Amino acid sequence: MSDFKKLWKYLSNYKKNLVLVFFFNLFGAIFSFGMVAAIIPFLNVLFDNTQQVHELPETFVMSKDTLLLYLNYYLTLVIERWDKSMALIFICAFLVFVTFLKDTAEYFGKYFNIPIVNGVPRDIYNIAYFKILQLPVFFFTNERKGDIMSRMSSDITIVRNSMNSFIDLIKNPVYILVYFIGIVIISYKMTLMVFVLLPFMGIVTGKIGKSLKKSTNRTQELQGDIMVYIDETLSGLKVIKIFNGIVQMHKQFESRSDAHYREQNRANRKYSLAHPLTDFLIVVILSIAIYFGGKLVLMDDGGMSAEAFIAFVLAFTQIASPAKSFTSAFYNIKQGAAGIDRIEKIINADAKIVDKPNALPIHSFSDSIEFKNVTFGYTQERMVLNNINLKIPKGMSIALVGQSGSGKTTIANLIPRFYEPTIGSITIDGVPLSDYKLSDLRGLIGIVTQESLLFNDSVFNNIAFGIENPDKEKVIEAAKLANAHDFIMEMENGYETNIGDQGGKLSGGQRQRLCIARAIMKNPQILILDEATSALDTESERLVQEALSNLMKDRTSLVIAHRLSTIKNSDNIVVLNEGRIVESGKHDELIELNGAYKRLHDLQLI
Ligand code: ADP
Ligand code: MG
Repeated sequence: MSDFKKLWKYLSNYKKNLVLVFFFNLFGAIFSFGMVAAIIPFLNVLFDNTQQVHELPETFVMSKDTLLLYLNYYLTLVIERWDKSMALIFICAFLVFVTFLKDTAEYFGKYFNIPIVNGVPRDIYNIAYFKILQLPVFFFTNERKGDIMSRMSSDITIVRNSMNSFIDLIKNPVYILVYFIGIVIISYKMTLMVFVLLPFMGIVTGKIGKSLKKSTNRTQELQGDIMVYIDETLSGLKVIKIFNGIVQMHKQFESRSDAHYREQNRANRKYSLAHPLTDFLIVVILSIAIYFGGKLVLMDDGGMSAEAFIAFVLAFTQIASPAKSFTSAFYNIKQGAAGIDRIEKIINADAKIVDKPNALPIHSFSDSIEFKNVTFGYTQERMVLNNINLKIPKGMSIALVGQSGSGKTTIANLIPRFYEPTIGSITIDGVPLSDYKLSDLRGLIGIVTQESLLFNDSVFNNIAFGIENPDKEKVIEAAKLANAHDFIMEMENGYETNIGDQGGKLSGGQRQRLCIARAIMKNPQILILDEATSALDTESERLVQEALSNLMKDRTSLVIAHRLSTIKNSDNIVVLNEGRIVESGKHDELIELNGAYKRLHDLQLI
């Protein structure tokens, strides 16, 4: 039942549609039973068993007997006026008419179901995407990224399929109920017998459903594994080829895809078993029922005519099909619920960084940003930063240097609170970052990194990213300051040119300058430059460096630089080694000191 609760959360937005689906299917079921019931008068006419009725009852009551009286009255009328074959024509015309009504009702049942089928996956997409945007950066490890991608594609498909089955969960019970009432009217004795047998079927199918859900969960996990592996491979292709890792990677991948293959086989086989099994059980039940029903007909006081018996069997076989799709809908819904479970793992993941209840607004600061005894590790086991004390006074430019892996980027990540210090605190004007509103804090900060993160959109929209109703003049001005205007104007559609996936149509230096233009456009008070020029050749570096100088004017900045020449003039240079600050001071002082900085410096001179 909890499966349905999960779905209900999303379905409850579509109550109106659900009600309409229910009613149209109710009419559909009633008309459909009418089709089956028409067999009785038809056979009666054929076998000359039509009861002669020459007078209508005085009052109309909604009951089987009254209806039969009316029916037989009109049939008698037709047979006496014309002949039996005319009576058959009448019955057939009735059949066509009822079928038309049934199909129309069924169509509208589906018509109103379609927005549910497509709407629920849309809603889940929207909720999950919004959640992804809100989750803290540290949530997205490589493993999780692959997992999320697989959930957002295959699990949503599963949910959509299960929604297709949802109509069966409404339609089939209605059909079963209507037919049930119908066969009770035809012969309650026989009905009783059949329905004593049904619970056995329920027990068996319930068992299958449970084991099916387990298998589906497992296949999805394995699918996620594969996606992670492919993702890793794509980003590490060069390394794999250079280190001759093709055979090894291929083997490892095959063992994963094999595991997925085996589990998928298991799940599909279970699924295939569900159908024939219910089929078979129904035939078993039906055979028992036919045997006893036949005996009722043979007995003179059995209370059932041969025509009624045939109608009963016909009606019951009609129940079989909705019962079958009801059970398979049941499995599908279970699968869908499992899909929702996995998606909800994202939706319900704790967004660990949240504003405190009385979070302070911050739109500017007056004194400094300060790291106080900050120790930090991405995992519990290994601390990446150790006891960092660092002051970035307003308006100053502080440089961070050190070997790769020494923790420079990590320090930069802590300022916008992508991660939280494990020990110690970071303050702005003496107030811990966690006391400020997160969106305000991030509003103060602009970041330019080595990887130019751009979106598959126009140049204009990339520069104005995050700004509502951007001013065209300002965008151009920002592009000019970033030394980007000239190359933008040379592009096909100028500022409206689409730059392709990840800015794929641009060179590294051009991408970098767009990122700088974006940072200029944001006009942040605090600027973080994380190796913003290290991926560039000398010519683009000169252009980018110029752009950066424009950007840094009158701002507080933390500059991480690979090439020491670019930070020579910083107000303070901080040298990091294995997560500790080992030296700090101005360029000349550090050279004088003849320590770690001097060594880095000399290395670059060579
Ligand atoms: P730098 O920028 O100085 O090259 P980083 O700050 O990127 O160094 O990395 C410092 C250390 O933290 C490295 O040992 C790196 O392996 C580790 N590290 C960086 N990012 C993560 C992460 N997301 N999860 C776990 N460890 C990380
Ligand atoms: Mg780095």
